Amino acid sequence: MVLGKAPDFDVLVIGSGPAGSAAAIACAQGGLRVVLIERELFPRSHPGETLHPGVEPLLKQLGVIEPVLAAGFLRHTGNWVKWEAEKHFASFGEDDSGAWLGFQAWRADFDKILLNRAKTLGVEVLQPCQASRLLMDGCKVVGVETSQGTLRASQVVDATGSHHWLARQLELQINYHSPRLIAYYGYATGECPARDDAPAIVADSDGWTWTARVRPQLYQWTRLSLVSRKMQKDWLPDEFHGLKSYQKMQAADVTWRIVSQPAGAGYFIVGDAAMVLDPASSHGVLKAIMSGIMAGHLIAAELLGNLTEQQATQQYCQWIHNWFQHDVENLSKLYAILPN
Ligand SMILES: Cc1cc2nc3c(=O)[nH]c(=O)nc-3n(C[C@H](O)[C@H](O)[C@H](O)COP(=O)(O)OP(=O)(O)OC[C@H]3O[C@@H](n4cnc5c(N)ncnc54)[C@H](O)[C@@H]3O)c2cc1C
Repeated sequence: MVLGKAPDFDVLVIGSGPAGSAAAIACAQGGLRVVLIERELFPRSHPGETLHPGVEPLLKQLGVIEPVLAAGFLRHTGNWVKWEAEKHFASFGEDDSGAWLGFQAWRADFDKILLNRAKTLGVEVLQPCQASRLLMDGCKVVGVETSQGTLRASQVVDATGSHHWLARQLELQINYHSPRLIAYYGYATGECPARDDAPAIVADSDGWTWTARVRPQLYQWTRLSLVSRKMQKDWLPDEFHGLKSYQKMQAADVTWRIVSQPAGAGYFIVGDAAMVLDPASSHGVLKAIMSGIMAGHLIAAELLGNLTEQQATQQYCQWIHNWFQHDVENLSKLYAILPN
């Protein structure tokens, strides 16, 4: 690859989770030259399997609905919910063609499907390739130094997930909207017939526990405690007793937060890299995909001369902030009705 002062690509996307692949696909669909770098080799594991049926139109738009349906992910018609009242089944709804179905999308397979689609559309993929430092021209982001050399692009998209790589490089402010929240999660193998029809979220006096069957004989749990944060390392939800822990319990910081400036001169930040909420709503992947598509459209509009850079970045920042605000209000109401 010849590297010089001129951009090598229209768009450089960092990170190939759902947000990064969606952004790369949307840019390539808009006729742009795209490079996508991912530091890990695929398949790689990642939490976040449960997808709301609302993801289907997005998957169609990205051109991946057929391989996603062919992957044979488990489907479900709603979730069991025990929050402030008795346990009940919250169905997703239905239309003339039948019940709406969510997915248990095993992320190693799901993320690979999205990445393969990007490759099919001509996106150049460098993997494993890690972004190490931003390249700046004054206040404008113009590229990235990576483990495979320097890459210059007209726009850089940060899709590196919840560690906020680009925001930290630019020392952008990250605004926190909740007390510190740590989600513990893990997997268990065996049989748990009570969890085979649909996932469940059950609140108690300390927080909530999410359980789901994510593959045949493999169950996932997430525990978010609002009171005590120490977890015994062999902890399993009551309903999984008799099952065997599969791999080690892990923890993730899911404190509600948003990057103050999710787009600016030469960059867009998408998915968890832009904003994080705790997984009570199971919408992280949906939001990652939507923000990737939105950033891709705005970048294409800007680079094709239909919007100025300022218009594109302002629209994106406004959209992300409104969305985050709306979700924070809804989640706050949800937590307010818990006893503690
Ligand atoms: C316990 C838990 C349970 C969850 N459950 C759900 C759920 O059921 N449903 C749901 O929708 N969401 C869920 N989520 C949220 C979901 O996991 C995230 O919202 C989603 O993965 C965000 O996607 P992303 O593409 O923004 O980032 P990620 O999926 O994190 O992808 C980021 C990618 O960037 C790469 N990367 C990072 N740094 C660099 C670098 N410097 N250079 C190159 N590449 C880099 C990483 O390797 C990774 O592949 C859950 C989260 C947690 C913590």
